[in-house]
Amino acid sequence: MTGRDPLRLADRPWPDVGRPVVLVPLGSTEQHGPHLPLDTDIAVASVVCDALAARLAADGIDAVVAPPIAYGASGEHEDFPGTISIGTQALTFLIVELGRSASAWADRIVFVNGHGGNVEALATAVPVLIDEERNAAWVPCVPGAETLPGGVPVDAHAGRSETSILLALDPGRVHTDGFEAGNVTPVRELMGDLRERGVRGVAPNGVLGDATPATAGEGRTLLESIVGEAWSRLHGGRTDEHGCLVAGPEAPDPVTGAVS
Ligand SMILES: [Zn+2]
Repeated sequence: MTGRDPLRLADRPWPDVGRPVVLVPLGSTEQHGPHLPLDTDIAVASVVCDALAARLAADGIDAVVAPPIAYGASGEHEDFPGTISIGTQALTFLIVELGRSASAWADRIVFVNGHGGNVEALATAVPVLIDEERNAAWVPCVPGAETLPGGVPVDAHAGRSETSILLALDPGRVHTDGFEAGNVTPVRELMGDLRERGVRGVAPNGVLGDATPATAGEGRTLLESIVGEAWSRLHGGRTDEHGCLVAGPEAPDPVTGAVS
């Protein structure tokens, strides 16, 4: 889009800001294999924010997307050139202070997280904001199911899933001749090794998964699923003890009143 976009906070002069819901994309600047850009997580969080802001606007709720937080906690990727990590502690302070500042005028602040390494900071910072009676929450960019249609598992880092999403968003930013498999062991099983040796120790090319089968079509399906999941959590409005939005309350059984 050229010209002023009313759904972008940065595009609003102050008298036009009002009291919107503020969506803050939270990403990372970190290696994403030999084929994806360093800002992959920012790109994903930003596009999810754009979609959520458009849905809120369609419901008559004023919403804006703030400039993204481009740096996160990426220590496990620091062995790769290009990665810039500010670590969990600095990120925690950043989220708290950003939330406090924006609360002066925002109706609600929702951090939309594109990088798993940021979860610890969010889970510490957002409950602080909530304790201070600020209307804050966070939501991860995760699909509604752990598998894609056809039973294909969603993989962790720079593999089939993220590569597909980037192909859907902007194929010109993907090195299509560089698709490689990395370490395909599920991340849950890799965790101990990952903590000890970093990503480079378990996957020299930086890929956790296999990028080779990625397609733009699969990326569009995944994005739809991620936006749908985030939307249902945002709409439900309920947070857990970590300040994370969870799926909305289920309708009580009309006979027993019980929630299944
Ligand atoms: Zn990523």
